[in-house]
Amino acid sequence: MGRELSVVGGGAIGLACALAAADAGWTTTVYDAGSASRAAHVAGGMLGCFGEGHPGERRILDISAQSAALWPDFLTRLGDPTVRTATDSILLAASATDLAYLDDQVGFVRDRIPGATLARSTGAQLRRCETALARGLAGGYLAEGEGAVDNRLLVAALEERLGEAGGRIVRAGVDDPTELPGDQILIAAGLGSAALAAVAGADISVHGEKGEILRLRRTRWSVPPPKHVIRGRRHGRPIYLVPRADAVVVGATQYEAVGSDDRVPQAGGVADLLADAIAVMPGLSTYELAEAGAGIRPSSPDGVPVVQRIDDRILVATGHGRNGIALSPWTAARVMDVLAGEPRESREPRKLRESE
Ligand SMILES: Cc1cc2nc3c(=O)[nH]c(=O)nc-3n(C[C@H](O)[C@H](O)[C@H](O)COP(=O)(O)OP(=O)(O)OC[C@H]3O[C@@H](n4cnc5c(N)ncnc54)[C@H](O)[C@@H]3O)c2cc1C
Repeated sequence: MGRELSVVGGGAIGLACALAAADAGWTTTVYDAGSASRAAHVAGGMLGCFGEGHPGERRILDISAQSAALWPDFLTRLGDPTVRTATDSILLAASATDLAYLDDQVGFVRDRIPGATLARSTGAQLRRCETALARGLAGGYLAEGEGAVDNRLLVAALEERLGEAGGRIVRAGVDDPTELPGDQILIAAGLGSAALAAVAGADISVHGEKGEILRLRRTRWSVPPPKHVIRGRRHGRPIYLVPRADAVVVGATQYEAVGSDDRVPQAGGVADLLADAIAVMPGLSTYELAEAGAGIRPSSPDGVPVVQRIDDRILVATGHGRNGIALSPWTAARVMDVLAGEPRESREPRKLRESE
């Protein structure tokens, strides 16, 4: 087996895979086009598992649970305790209708993961855990072990550990992955993966789902950030607050991207996020609006990541949609399996015809 690996893409997925490979003795080089198009740069950083248990999405829930089990060791390997910003979540419903939706979601999770630690709580009980929550919320669940990371610190820590492990990062875009040096090539370029796979002769389906997201910074007059990730529903819309050291990330909208460079936030999306965030935690109104951004989630048609071989030399890991941060250790483990000759995914990419 070859021992030199080139990775295209230096987001959460490419870097997590590169670090796992370097730790396993591969000489590893990551080629990356920069953070401007990187979903991992704008993400919220929730390590969703229970909160991602949407009825009908059984496979993604199973994978999320497997990845959640890998996070403690992954964090230890990263060696930077500031990467993790929360250990538990509150799943919150603003109204009785939102709570009924949440009950369905939790029922589905409990059927699939019998040991899930999800405690049904009234609005008043949740306020005892997070005193800055608004009064009059319908209620929700306390989700133990469902935490969050600072996605930007995560990428920085991965880059640092990779360098220490002997890996290299080349800050450059790649047009043709087949021309890269190495015994094995991993395409982990997020939304750019489909075009790169096509150059290598394979048809990988990845579409872009846009999301607006805000970063609010605490001022000296403001309440502290929450200790939990707050995942709420208000007027049927999802809203989440993800703690940072002295800030809160507020996300996120989700709709089909118009094109692969559709990364400008729209006023309506920003307005909804601000209104919902302040309704859930009124003290956020004194925070500074430090950043209003948008990113594009690289999504597979069924929401399940694509981790598979294209040919003897090239493999691909992409299509993580709204869960790529949470699924980075799981993906690294699967890629190492594929490199070791044990493909876990049975889906074969369709070969492009000569004329395509
Ligand atoms: C608003 C929003 C909120 C999100 N919140 C969460 C969350 O809370 N939790 C979670 O788990 N996930 C979240 N996600 C999803 C997550 O960000 C993505 O699933 C994840 O970042 C995908 O990782 P990736 O490495 O595959 O792609 P990316 O992070 O997009 O990285 C791809 C990298 O490849 C590089 N690249 C692309 N083409 C080329 C090329 N030709 N040559 C060289 N380099 C190239 C890019 O420059 C980039 O650095 C969110 C996403 C968005 C948009």
